[in-house]
Amino acid sequence: MLKIIILIVVGFVVYKIFFDKKIENNSTTTKDDSDELVECSNCHTFVPKSECKWTKNGCLCKDCQ
Ligand SMILES: [Zn+2]
Repeated sequence: MLKIIILIVVGFVVYKIFFDKKIENNSTTTKDDSDELVECSNCHTFVPKSECKWTKNGCLCKDCQ
């Protein structure tokens, strides 16, 4: 009986570590993506990816849109 309890506890801990890591990776990826700086093709200033608008010539910052 004790072995089964240990097995369940170990399984739960392993599952929790894996699950937490997965969530952390997802949020890190999202954060990196929005904080990444890209050069505006018009005024050549670096703006966050989330603020720029993509055109066929490159990205435009919010001032050049
Ligand atoms: Zn610009």
